[in-house]
Amino acid sequence: MNQALTICPYCACGCGFYLQTEKDKVIGIIPSKNHPVSRGKLCVKAWGLPEMISSPYRLKQVLLNVQMKKII
Ligand code: SF4
Repeated sequence: MNQALTICPYCACGCGFYLQTEKDKVIGIIPSKNHPVSRGKLCVKAWGLPEMISSPYRLKQVLLNVQMKKII
């Protein structure tokens, strides 16, 4: 298992956490206790990141081209 320190992408607060990965999959999230903003805490949106990243419903390509073809 690997973990990488990163910043939450959801809002401008920029809370810090470690993303745990295994075989190119995100398997967990651990708040950074030393991060000056979040200080070991995260809101519910960040806690749901691992589930969102691996969701089969996540869009993996832009849909704009499909919509533009219908218009043209
Ligand atoms: S954990 Fe919540 S408050 Fe912090 S940056 Fe992410 S969305 Fe914003």
